[in-house]
Amino acid sequence: MDTPGSQSSLHRANLERVLRAVRMAGSLTQAEIARSTGLSAATVSNIVRELKESGTVVVTPTSSGGRRARSVSLSADAGIVVGVDFGHTHLRVAVGNLAHRVLAEESEPIDVDASAAQGFDRAETLVERLLTQTGFRSDKVIGVGLGVPGPIDVETGAIGSTAILPGWTGVEPGRELSSRLGMPVYVDNDANLGALGELVWGAGRGLSDLAYIKVASGVGAGLVISGQIYRGPGGTAGEIGHITLDESGPVCRCGNRGCLETFVGSRYLLNLLNASHGPGLSVPRVVQLAQRGDLGCRRVIADVGRQIGTGVANLCNLLNPRRVILGGDLAEAGELVLSPIRESVARYAIPSAARQLSVVPGTLGGRAEVLGALALVMSEMGDSGALPQPDGSLHPRSVTAVSSGR
Ligand SMILES: [Zn+2]
Repeated sequence: MDTPGSQSSLHRANLERVLRAVRMAGSLTQAEIARSTGLSAATVSNIVRELKESGTVVVTPTSSGGRRARSVSLSADAGIVVGVDFGHTHLRVAVGNLAHRVLAEESEPIDVDASAAQGFDRAETLVERLLTQTGFRSDKVIGVGLGVPGPIDVETGAIGSTAILPGWTGVEPGRELSSRLGMPVYVDNDANLGALGELVWGAGRGLSDLAYIKVASGVGAGLVISGQIYRGPGGTAGEIGHITLDESGPVCRCGNRGCLETFVGSRYLLNLLNASHGPGLSVPRVVQLAQRGDLGCRRVIADVGRQIGTGVANLCNLLNPRRVILGGDLAEAGELVLSPIRESVARYAIPSAARQLSVVPGTLGGRAEVLGALALVMSEMGDSGALPQPDGSLHPRSVTAVSSGR
């Protein structure tokens, strides 16, 4: 074993820093690696040469600001990552490599809420089918990222008792999928995965401080602070849906009254239109009607935007993010919802906290969570996982790492 502080452990730590920077960005020039790791250009150059010789990274000529440069990315066969995203009504699976290429992706409609066992059966089949399609054996898989739309108990890794996922109470999704696939599984909630997806592949690329706000049946935020998801010690950071807006408002599923979610969650949004537009509406349909000029739907979307904006203003005052990315079906409404959000931010946030803020829709749509699941594995896999081992094999961490949920 290396002693901490020894020459070789320092070298190993530098190797891991370079690998992590490249893995999270997809590809970087050597100058960019030096900037993001704080290592000197000479050290980066030596490390890149070593990683190239071991086949861990590939170096391709590129140009940066008109100058010739060398772009470094992880080798396409350095390992495979799998993402599995359970929504309430769909299952989506993606297979990618560490060079950020999505090699295969598929989704199917499924009543996830009804039965966990059935959901896992389908997930297992789909993962195996996509791996076969890409031609990779399962021992090339470094890990599986798993997204669930319900609260996970951080201590036990089990889905808590909830009205949101009735067929899942007591299930430990990470352990279940890991034992079925024989692969390490990392679990997180949909908002954190959406944030990671947009950070690595979408509207948050190149930023290190952002919030992804998912507005669906529930409302939650994934917070990225200094390039890392912030989960808090209990894993519940980002519960923006339960900011109190009205002490005497409707009772929320959390037991409180007048939470943000009770004004903007899909159930509440659709309720507002029940009398005028009849039952059977969905959020995508409301967005479509609003875009065609339906005044009632426009009004409801604008009101919802203003309420979300109040939450965003609070978030700005606390965390001063550079970008807020709106996810979920409502984001498809574009300016109809974004302008009212910005108006509320201008009204309620401290000007200096909102000065550098941009409020934008996510660019990944319904793929944000599954791509975030791929990024979760890249972020959590442990840096030595991608380093070449003496026997040339991959040594993934074998434990199930369960992070937060709501
Ligand atoms: Zn609440």
